[in-house]
Amino acid sequence: MPKPFKTLDDMGDIAGKAVLVREDLNVPMAEGSVTDDTRLRAAVPTLLELAERGAKVLILAHFGRPKGLKSPELSLSLVTRGLSQLLGRQVQFIPDCQGEAAAAGIAVMRAGDIAILENTRFHAGEEKNDPALSKAMAALGDLYVNDAFSAAHRAHSSTEGIAHLLPAFAGRSMEKELDALEAALGNPDRPVAAVVGGAKVSTKLAVLEHLVEKVDHLIIGGGMANTFLAARGVDVGKSLCEHDLVETANGIFERAEAAGCTIHLPYDVAVAKDFAANPPSYRICNVNEVAADEMILDVGPAAVEALADVLKTCCTLVWNGPLGAFEIPPFDRATVALAKIAAALTAEGSLVSVAGGGDTVAALNHAGAADDFTFVSTAGGAFLEWMEGKQLPGVAALMGK
Ligand code: ADP
Ligand code: MG
Repeated sequence: MPKPFKTLDDMGDIAGKAVLVREDLNVPMAEGSVTDDTRLRAAVPTLLELAERGAKVLILAHFGRPKGLKSPELSLSLVTRGLSQLLGRQVQFIPDCQGEAAAAGIAVMRAGDIAILENTRFHAGEEKNDPALSKAMAALGDLYVNDAFSAAHRAHSSTEGIAHLLPAFAGRSMEKELDALEAALGNPDRPVAAVVGGAKVSTKLAVLEHLVEKVDHLIIGGGMANTFLAARGVDVGKSLCEHDLVETANGIFERAEAAGCTIHLPYDVAVAKDFAANPPSYRICNVNEVAADEMILDVGPAAVEALADVLKTCCTLVWNGPLGAFEIPPFDRATVALAKIAAALTAEGSLVSVAGGGDTVAALNHAGAADDFTFVSTAGGAFLEWMEGKQLPGVAALMGK
């Protein structure tokens, strides 16, 4: 099937052309060094391919939240060395992303050179998607590539405005992410299961409402399961629970029923009296046996076994949010066990598994399961908006070009 967007395969001969590439270089730093280079590594395939095909590669990216003001501690020059090391070649730095200084720096680049242009957010127009800034950036290049899915939920000049002014293509990381998301929720093999966990219903309401319409099995874990249990009349004791959202939870039960989606809630749970590692009060009990002074902190082992049986009947899985307070042992057990089962089913070839979310990625890494998932998105906010069924402006701008 042809893709609804153009990729690097559709660019033709780009030797000598100036290609503006939106990447996500917004990496965490400490004492002048990059502390997690995941995002830089994701940029490498597209940058190397364009350079090897003889383009002048001009990277557009934001860094932190300078709010339209130049601030030296948020200069992308700080990231240049780390990216050079990963690429195994020199990366130049150009001190603006628009205007004469940028044009002068680009004019002396040779085919195959790679340069980072200064933080797009040093211009107030970036976050306003100001057409003047989009135009000034577009003037520096012949072609535009968006390789930053994680920034695509924002309609900014460098992610959206510029895509309408130059021939626009998806980079390799963007392409991989869009393909994986399409396979998981766009046009998935059925049955489809979704795992939604995490702390609160309130932060994931839109996700739950979208998923009940899309999936065959909705597995609810984490703190948010307590609100659904309360809606079913379960006394959840001292557990994290949004009692004011019980009506909302009932609405989700109704929509699921109408859509033919089965909601799975735990029927046994791990509880404790205090939120601490290996507390003496730890025990496994039926959901109907939680004492007034106990908190539900994880899904129980019997429920995990039942959920594993559900996954065995499914072809596709999307996962956001841990099943329990996985940072604190032993409340990582259900998340680790179910993640391992999903990883094994994926390795066997019976399941397509896509996961995302900050704590979810950490939990899957902790379980040693991330490498066997079909795709793990590190996109955070953009991944959640996609789980909510929203059109991401930076992706929409690439469609049908
Ligand atoms: P993500 O970052 O992957 O989107 P969330 O931020 O929504 O995930 O949820 C992760 C948080 O949910 C973790 O900090 C975890 O401790 C918490 N959590 C999970 N289950 C429970 C529970 N039963 N009680 C309290 N907190 C929980
Ligand atoms: Mg989180």
